[in-house]
Amino acid sequence: MPRWGMVIDLDRCTACQACTIACRNENNIPFAGPDHASKGRAIFWNQVLPFKEEGEQGYSRIRFTPLPCMHCDRPSCIKVCPVRATYKSEEGIVFQIFARCIGCRLCMCACPYSRRFYNWSKGHWPEIMQSAFNPDVSLRPLGVVEKCTFCIQRSREGKYPSCVEICPVGARKFGNLLDPDSEIRYILENKRVLVLKQELNTQPKFYYFFGI
Ligand code: SF4
Ligand code: SF4
Repeated sequence: MPRWGMVIDLDRCTACQACTIACRNENNIPFAGPDHASKGRAIFWNQVLPFKEEGEQGYSRIRFTPLPCMHCDRPSCIKVCPVRATYKSEEGIVFQIFARCIGCRLCMCACPYSRRFYNWSKGHWPEIMQSAFNPDVSLRPLGVVEKCTFCIQRSREGKYPSCVEICPVGARKFGNLLDPDSEIRYILENKRVLVLKQELNTQPKFYYFFGI
C-alpha cells in the first residue's frame, strides 16, 4: 500500500493558478456565485494565497503559496467529527463521506489550515462546464463539507493529481513516501523541507521547499 505525499518547490511556483483551475475542473468544484463569494463562502480545494515575508533591513515581500489539504497524519478534522464522516485511508489520504456528513462544520473549525469548505448553496456551474462534469467525482449537495482528495481517482489509475500534471514549471511533485527510490523521498531526504504550522504536530504530508 503506497503512502501518498506531495512537495512543492516555492522557488519554481509562479503563482499562475493553473493548479487551482485544473483542480476545479477535475473535481467538479461548484461556483459559489457572487453573493456567497462576497461573504467568503467560495469553495477552493486548492488555493494559491499571498503571504508576507519579512526580510532584512525592514524590507518585506509577498510570496504566493499553494495550499491544498495537508492530508495530516494527525488530522484534527477527523477527531471532532461526531458522525465519522471523515477518515484517513491506508494510503494516508483524508477523505470526506458526503452522504454521511451532517454539515455541523466542526471539522472546519478544527482544521488549522482552513482547508475544508461548506456548501452554502446548491452548486452552480457555468453552462459550458455542465456538459463536462468529471464522472469519476460525485457532485456534493447543499449542506455538506468538502475537501481535497489528492485526486485519488487519478492516483489509483497511476496518474498524477491534476494540480501536479498541469503545473507548467513542474513545481509540484507527488509520490509514494514509502518508496526509497521516489523523487519525493529524494527531496525529503536531501532538501531543507518545511511544513506549515509544524508546532501543532498535525504532521502534514504536503511539504514545501526552496529548490534554488
Ligand atoms: Fe463531520 Fe460533516 Fe460535521 Fe465535518 S461537517 S464534522 S464531516 S458531520
Ligand atoms: Fe484535516 Fe485540515 Fe489537515 Fe486537511 S489540512 S487533513 S482538512 S486538519
